Amino acid sequence: MGITPRARILVLFLSIVVVSGMYFLFYDEDISSKYNSKTPCELNDPDFMEIIMVAVNGSGDYKIICREKTEEEKHKPENLEEHIIPENIPIRREIIDFWQNFRGPGNCTANECDAYCSEQENLNECISWCKNNSDLCPDFKLEEWQSKLKQNIIFVPVDVYIIKYNDDDLSSIRNKENINSLFSNVNIIWNQANISANITKIEFLMINDNSIYSSTERLYSYVIQTGNYDKNKINAYFVKTLHGSNGIALPGNVIMIADRTTVFDYRATSHEIGHVLGLKHVGPINRLMARGVNGFDLTDDEIEIAQSNALSKFY
Ligand SMILES: [Zn+2]
Repeated sequence: MGITPRARILVLFLSIVVVSGMYFLFYDEDISSKYNSKTPCELNDPDFMEIIMVAVNGSGDYKIICREKTEEEKHKPENLEEHIIPENIPIRREIIDFWQNFRGPGNCTANECDAYCSEQENLNECISWCKNNSDLCPDFKLEEWQSKLKQNIIFVPVDVYIIKYNDDDLSSIRNKENINSLFSNVNIIWNQANISANITKIEFLMINDNSIYSSTERLYSYVIQTGNYDKNKINAYFVKTLHGSNGIALPGNVIMIADRTTVFDYRATSHEIGHVLGLKHVGPINRLMARGVNGFDLTDDEIEIAQSNALSKFY
């Protein structure tokens, strides 16, 4: 490939500068507040600010600093350049242009990215951006974000409905204590992904039309039509029977669980939550997403998918 040594040095330089710019940009708070959260550097206001690069104690690392020009400097730009980075003047403009046009995850500018990526709901996006832009994103940042994601519990809100009919024979026999202990077991399983089902309400849902009992489809239609559920949560319906299934996951973050299950009821519930969080069926019987067995394991890939969906759906 015809890459000249000069081009190679330029690319290296841009990488260092952009990465440094992402994490080490400082600007004057008082001045920036006048600009509605945009820094004068971003607005490129020549009267106020100048972007400069400085070498850090000769180590080869660079900082980008945006600072106010002194009156003297305003009138002597050539002095400023000579004073600050005498040996890099030829590529200085390109570096600054590149940095000013830089956009990271969530379209953050270089000086916004660190704050953006410190928000839990943005961690997944930042991690995948970092993996796809390894030349611009240092490994230590990737590791920091990955370990932060692993440390934080991702709470998934769950509204629980226990279905009752006029006829006790058709009604779920579960009560609030049973639901709470079921979900404490669900959370032991999902703890491997640092995901926790957070019960936001438990309600007895009285259905007056006994014909709803006869099929899962009817019950689901009833749930959708009455519209009395929050799509921004998991809606867990506990019913006497699903006519042969242990559990079922349906659009709208709806899951349904039967009173009697051929596997542990908390495992069936955990499995359906897995579907809501984007997981598909797998073969090995030790796995949570295997069908009809008491497997509990999630792979690293499944954990990543589930966390990513939990954050995008419920945060
Ligand atoms: Zn399934």
